[in-house]
Amino acid sequence: MEPLPLVLTPPRGRAKPPRHLADLTLAERQDAAKELGLPAFRAKQLSTHYFERLVDDPEQMTDLPAAQRAELVAGFLPRLIDPIRTLEADRGTTRKTLWRLFDAALVESVLMRYPDRVTMCVSSQAGCGMACPFCATGQGGLQRNMSTAEIVEQVVAGARSLARGEVPGGPGRVSNVVFMGMGEPLANYKAVVGAVRRLTSPAPEGLGMSARGITVSTVGLVPRIRQLAEEGIPVTLALSLHAPDDELRNELVPINTRFSVAETVEAAWDYARTTKRRVSIEYAMMRDINDQAWRADLLADVLNGYGAVPDGAGGRRRQGWVHVNLIPLNAVPGSRFTRSREADMDEFMRRLNARGISTTMRDTRGSDIDAACGQLAANAD
Ligand code: SAH
Repeated sequence: MEPLPLVLTPPRGRAKPPRHLADLTLAERQDAAKELGLPAFRAKQLSTHYFERLVDDPEQMTDLPAAQRAELVAGFLPRLIDPIRTLEADRGTTRKTLWRLFDAALVESVLMRYPDRVTMCVSSQAGCGMACPFCATGQGGLQRNMSTAEIVEQVVAGARSLARGEVPGGPGRVSNVVFMGMGEPLANYKAVVGAVRRLTSPAPEGLGMSARGITVSTVGLVPRIRQLAEEGIPVTLALSLHAPDDELRNELVPINTRFSVAETVEAAWDYARTTKRRVSIEYAMMRDINDQAWRADLLADVLNGYGAVPDGAGGRRRQGWVHVNLIPLNAVPGSRFTRSREADMDEFMRRLNARGISTTMRDTRGSDIDAACGQLAANAD
């Protein structure tokens, strides 16, 4: 007889999060209900509670027979993310939540309410394996991929607090989701695409959001960018470029040693062409590192190398295929990277705009609660 394994709990990072209805399509939920010996229509009722009414207390699911409720909730709505702490800024309109996952991994999400929209910034991995030296998350390495439902739950939690009027400004809805929290979304491709499908499917299968309100941000995993273009879900692609030349980008975004600036920008251009969506180029402004005027000119040249289309009169016309977002660097404590001077950022932006590249400066909401881009590090203390 084989001896019993000594390790009774799976090694950290190996166990999978429990299955949740947000991991499944409506048809898969119906099959799963039947497997539990329950009528398929219960799957739809549960989905309505979860995605449409945003109910999380089983007691409120009064259309489910009390005898089946516990089984349905255990089978479809296991608790996946537990709030450990919420920090608020901007008079409560920016809220960062630290979540504990079933295996004690920690991730963060940020809700940002603006006059005309609410954006949820979500994590797609616990930690990140991309090791960008200026990013707080990148310093700790990757712990594990998140499941589709763990990703969706962050948005549903935000939707609940808005619907309940817990965010100043009255009851509201989540209009935008950006995959700009912890992790490299395209390194967790399947779960992220599943989450995008759940966010965009009409209720009660999903949250019924518009794909136009969703942005997937990536270091530039070229084969995955190409795959995403073929999914038929026109989300906005954000490419974290941060340098127009391989020499510097190899250092700032180490995956660049696998996929060069030219290959990466070409994949982004192909994404724009296939999906008809404008691509965002993210560029964190780092003092004396990537903020020189000549680099602005080079960035414009690199981006202007694409996007020219026939003008119908025998010539070529430039299409505004990209938008550059300059992000004032949120300095990570102990890091040698610091934020650019105002004058250098202004000049950088001016040069890009002058060369026909539409460019704006990203606001740094949440930086005082370590909730701005690149600051999410999930410290429990
Ligand atoms: N892995 C994805 C999502 C990460 S975070 C990606 O790299 O795109 C979203 C954006 O914040 C990325 O553009 C990332 O480069 C940027 N970022 C990381 N650290 C930052 C910092 N300290 N200050 C400003 N932006 C930062």
